[in-house]
Parts: sequence; structure tokens; C-alpha cells
Amino acid sequence: FSINMTELQLEEELGRGNYGTVKKVLHKPTNVAMAMKEIRLELEDSKLNAIIMELDILHRATAPEIVEFYGAFFIESCVYYCMEYMDAGSLDKLQGAGVPEDVLARITASMVRGLKFLKDELQIIHRDVKPTNVLVNRGGLVKLCDFGVSGQLEKSLAKTNIGCQSYMAPERIKGESQNKLGTYTVSSDVWSLGLSMIEIAMGQYPYPPETYSNVFAQLTAIVHGDPPHLPDGFSDDAHAFVDGCLEKEPERRPTYSDLIQHPFLVADQTRDVDMKGWVKRALEYRASASAQAAAAAAPPLHGVS
Ligand code: ATP
Ligand code: MG
Repeated sequence: FSINMTELQLEEELGRGNYGTVKKVLHKPTNVAMAMKEIRLELEDSKLNAIIMELDILHRATAPEIVEFYGAFFIESCVYYCMEYMDAGSLDKLQGAGVPEDVLARITASMVRGLKFLKDELQIIHRDVKPTNVLVNRGGLVKLCDFGVSGQLEKSLAKTNIGCQSYMAPERIKGESQNKLGTYTVSSDVWSLGLSMIEIAMGQYPYPPETYSNVFAQLTAIVHGDPPHLPDGFSDDAHAFVDGCLEKEPERRPTYSDLIQHPFLVADQTRDVDMKGWVKRALEYRASASAQAAAAAAPPLHGVS
């Protein structure tokens, strides 16, 4: 079925990225809650139409580890993209309370299966693996979103900007793995996976911007410095898994099949993991942390006016 704006009831904003805003919406005919991403692109209608058509292949991207796509449309140089609403948000917002190894392994297993599905079934390389593009729901499911399906859309976005937290592999920063057709290799996503795992485990991006005087210094550290490691407290298998993903040479990184057979993920297959409990605690931690921040910022109740 196709979706249009008149069928949607707008609700709260879920977040903002470099390219647009994501809002919760209710699809009135079906009573389904959705997340709607608005991307402003100053393009003529024919280009916008081409993007909508390219996004259509997302209807085939159905897997337990991929956020469901409901449809896209455009109005006045904005593309609107409707997807499954994930009620616990993205991983970057859940990482403050810490992540035990069994939860990290379950998250990683979902990410690897999702990435392998995209590659094997749809010949898609994600190209934007990072914690904000890994979504979680209160049922404890972990799903990927925002992968590169539309060449037209990528080209139009590329002009905009890059954020200060780069999950790009060293070879992508150097520009080598981009062959003449401008295609990336799948191993660049494996780097981004490793970096995301460290961020989830540490609760912060492993190349913190405050450590570097500018973006150039930060990118130089990624290209020329030693790659980061998982913090202490994780098993040798977990460390080895992440170190493999963060090999500087792309050819030396494991494939998705290698990763699935790695002892770190094999252990996950037969383990009971309380993902629901972890999500619940992470959300509570986040709510109390933001309440504390708000209390610290607020003026005293009976202060002078
Ligand atoms: P970037 O612009 O660099 O890709 P981003 O991924 O944070 O960064 P968006 O993709 O625009 O930017 O998403 C903004 C925020 O909206 C995300 O960080 C996430 O927390 C939230 N979000 C996105 N999609 C959903 C969804 N389907 N369900 C719930 N929350 C979502
Ligand atoms: Mg995103």
C-alpha cells in the first residue's frame, strides 16, 4: 500500500540528524505508529521521483534485523520516509548504564545478521553503520536502519556535510577503497561495526572530539594511529572479535560469515539473554539522568524573579 501525508497524524519529534528530522506519526487508516524521517533536498521533482522509486526496493528488505519500511513520498522538495517505530530509540541513547557482555554479543549478532542479509539478499552495503542507526524496541529486538539504497539520495546528501563523529574506515577516509565506480567494499562496514561496539561498551565515541584540536587531527588519528580496543571487563573472545573488525588493512578484516562463526557470536546462539530487562534498565537510567540534568539546570523554585 502507499502512504501519503493526509493519512498521518504528527506526534512528537524523536530526534534530529545532519540531514533532517524524525517524528513519530500515527498512520490513521491502519492505526500503526510509525517513524517519519523528513529530508530536505533542494532538487527538481524528477530527481525526487527517482529517489522515491529507488527507495521502493526497501519493500523487499524484510528481515528480523532490519527496520521495516512502509513507504516514501515527497512534498515540496522534502522526501518523507516512513518506517517501523522503534520505541526504545537508537543505541547511542541506551549506552549510559553500561552493557554486559551477553547483551553486547546479542546486539552484535543482530547487527552482523542484518548486514549479511543486506549484502547477500539485496546486494546492499550499509555505508552508515553507527549507534544512531541501530534501533531497539522494548521487546528487546535490535534492528538496522538508514542503509544506502538510493544512489540518487546519497549523491544529494553527500553535498551537505559530515559529522564530527566519523565511523568511516581508514581506507574510506583516505579514499582508496572507492574504485572508479564509486563503490565501497563491505569490509568498511566491518570497521564501523567494531567502532560502534566499542562505543556501546564504553558509553562514548572512541575518538572523542575534545581530545583532538580539530576534525583533521581526529581523522589523522583514525588513519595513522593504533585502533581502539574494548575496555577491560570483557572476555578474550570479545576483545579478539573487535580487534579483528578494527584491522587497519581492509583485506585482513573478517567477512560476515567469519564473524558469525567467531566464538564470541557462537556463544550467543545458545544463551538466554534478558534483552527486555536491559532495555528497561537502560531507559530508566536515561530518564533519571536527564531528570537530574534538568534539575541541575533549572533555577530554584522559590528564587528571586
Ligand atoms: P545522521 O544524520 O548522521 O545519520 P542520525 O542517525 O542520528 O544521524 P537521523 O537518522 O535523522 O540522524 O535520526 C535522528 C534520530 O531519530 C536518531 O538518532 C534516532 O534516535 C531517532 N530515530 C530514527 N529512526 C527512528 C525509528 N524508526 N524509531 C525511533 N527512533 C528513530
Ligand atoms: Mg540515522
